[in-house]
Amino acid sequence: MAIKTVGIIGAGQMGGGIAHVCALAGYTVLLHDADAERLEKGIATINGNMARQVASGKLEDTQRSEAMKKILPAKAMEDLAGVDLAIEAATEDEDIKRKIFASLCPILNPEAILATNTSSISITRLAATTDRPERFMGIHFMNPVPLMKLVELVRGIATEEVTFKEAQAFVQSLDKTITVAEDFPAFIVNRILLPMINEAIYTLYEGVGSVDSIDTAMRLGANHPMGPLQLADFIGLDTCLSIMQVLYDGLSDSKYRPCPLLVKYVEAGWLGRKAGRGFYDYRGDEPVPTR
Ligand code: NAD
Repeated sequence: MAIKTVGIIGAGQMGGGIAHVCALAGYTVLLHDADAERLEKGIATINGNMARQVASGKLEDTQRSEAMKKILPAKAMEDLAGVDLAIEAATEDEDIKRKIFASLCPILNPEAILATNTSSISITRLAATTDRPERFMGIHFMNPVPLMKLVELVRGIATEEVTFKEAQAFVQSLDKTITVAEDFPAFIVNRILLPMINEAIYTLYEGVGSVDSIDTAMRLGANHPMGPLQLADFIGLDTCLSIMQVLYDGLSDSKYRPCPLLVKYVEAGWLGRKAGRGFYDYRGDEPVPTR
């Protein structure tokens, strides 16, 4: 089946980024969010990000305007009925994702592929809640989607080979590099990355270093392009906590226990960049460490 139309559920950081690259690759995109304001903001952010690419010479302005015409706001889930591929990119919460699939499946074309951008939740378990486990896949994009080359592809136990091949061709058409991961908690990238970020938060919690000293240490001492706390803010602290919980529950190993300081930041609503405050405060001209 040729994929022409892509439905995206969730117009946050990731859903917006996925819509951005799909539209530039020529797909028609139907973007849906439960929150109408976030949908509107999400589309404005995509336009702003494309305008930045135009300003830096990576894109022609006509490419931006053509791509923006291909992104259609889907106010209701029903608007996604005719898509060939639906990608769920809503909040990292299993209950939310299950509810989305329960409303989406009955209206979706029976042939359509259903994918999730989850960072950590079992593809097999999510697939089992749908009417099409054989047409279900994990297509895990990295943040920010327009800049990051990698996409992890994850099969559930029931995923058919034809589904995998179609998903692979789709991701290749976006000019991304694929890595295949087995369906274990947090797959490859986040299985390795999140325990490091969690350890950086423990380092802060135990007073070994300040936000600035920890990030400087890892940028200049380990040659990471971004410090782990800055990266945590960038990912979203709610997403980080959710991934650590999936690792902790899924692998039953105490080495994955989420740092209490991470829990406290999430409880405060200091979710990182998207909330204006996390390990850094982004409300002024320059980010200021909050500890
Ligand atoms: P986000 O908080 O920026 O956006 C989530 C969006 O989902 C919000 O706009 C919210 O309104 C919407 N939403 C919530 N419930 C919904 C529902 N029932 N129906 C429709 N929309 C709903 O989060 P994000 O960073 O974009 O993450 C989204 C997904 O992508 C998560 O599964 C996350 O694990 C995954 N992911 C995140 C990153 C990252 O670095 N942030 C990287 C790869 C994958």
